[in-house]
Amino acid sequence: MARVFNFSAGPAVLPEVVLKQAALEMSEYQDYGMSVMEMSHRSRAYMDIHAEASSLLRKLMNIPDDYAVLFLQGGASLQFSMVPMNIMTSNKKFDIINTGVWTQKAIVEGRKLGQVNVVASSQEEGFSFIPDVDNISFSHDADYVHICYNNTIYGTKYIKIPDTGNLPLVCDMSSCILSEPYDVSKYGIIFAGAQKNIGPAGVTIVIIKKDLLSRSSDDLATMLNYKVHAESDSLYNTPPTYAIYISMLVFRWLDSLGGVEEIYKLNKEKASLLYDFIDNSSFFKGNVDKRYRSLMNVTFSTPSKDLDSLFVKEAEKHGLVNLAGHKSAGGLRASIYNAMPVEGVRALVDFMKDFELKYSK
Ligand SMILES: *Cc1c(COP(=O)(O)O)cnc(C)c1O
Repeated sequence: MARVFNFSAGPAVLPEVVLKQAALEMSEYQDYGMSVMEMSHRSRAYMDIHAEASSLLRKLMNIPDDYAVLFLQGGASLQFSMVPMNIMTSNKKFDIINTGVWTQKAIVEGRKLGQVNVVASSQEEGFSFIPDVDNISFSHDADYVHICYNNTIYGTKYIKIPDTGNLPLVCDMSSCILSEPYDVSKYGIIFAGAQKNIGPAGVTIVIIKKDLLSRSSDDLATMLNYKVHAESDSLYNTPPTYAIYISMLVFRWLDSLGGVEEIYKLNKEKASLLYDFIDNSSFFKGNVDKRYRSLMNVTFSTPSKDLDSLFVKEAEKHGLVNLAGHKSAGGLRASIYNAMPVEGVRALVDFMKDFELKYSK
């Protein structure tokens, strides 16, 4: 069977060249006579992969020297606990802007450990927009502020980040990391599960300002302690070696394309193809406030639930798969991460045109 265009929200499409390279190296990596999966994480070969993954990510995101890059496990979801455990120390309190399921989960985990103050929310309006960050007052005694940059399920993203003054800004970038340039120095912590815009499930990236590491108490469980992972360069125990190797290949691919600035242009082009079509259609409609539309997850719907389901089924027959919206949001969703080629988006728009002609009366 030929490869389909996979619009899954995650785990998601990977660059085909990366998969082919990995296939070539699957059983014998370079001259080592074994797969990366079979190597000691202390071997020279693996250590080189590990170091290259880290240095390429630093280069791609322009990460300043006073930040540590960690490769952890447990998904972005474990960060909803690790962040408060490590960073919510002096006042046992953090502020959060509630923009969807992923911040709600962070609120639930945070409340097990301290006080969580929801300073703004779009919940009443079905998370269809991002609250105006200029009209939020943060608690002077919060240990940090938590936001989710791109809301995978609803298809919204920040267009401006809040000015939190001295409070470190913690940002969940699971579904947008490396999709557009970010000024890392504006954040205390950036975290992201790899399986949306980086690599396979199993590795979670944490970028943390080094001065925050002093907040991690020695009483924390060792594996949940940022300082331990930072001091051992994410090699305290066995890291998810194969997932890090694939991520490294994805970083190389992105670097060879010209880095984040270049992919950002392509991402804007892909998103515009879809949004322009939707805006000019009287059949399809976008699901969120236009000002905050995501570049990565485009949510839309047809005039009815039945047509939404039919759309998903017919699209599949055309090799356009995983277009159903998240169960909590309904409708349709096309996730168009970095690795989705422009041709995939063109094919989707062509299919949408035909579908509209056939089913609009
Ligand atoms: C997918 C996702 C998560 C959860 O990631 P896991 O790696 O499955 O724990 C958290 N936040 C955002 C924004 C996501 O898109």
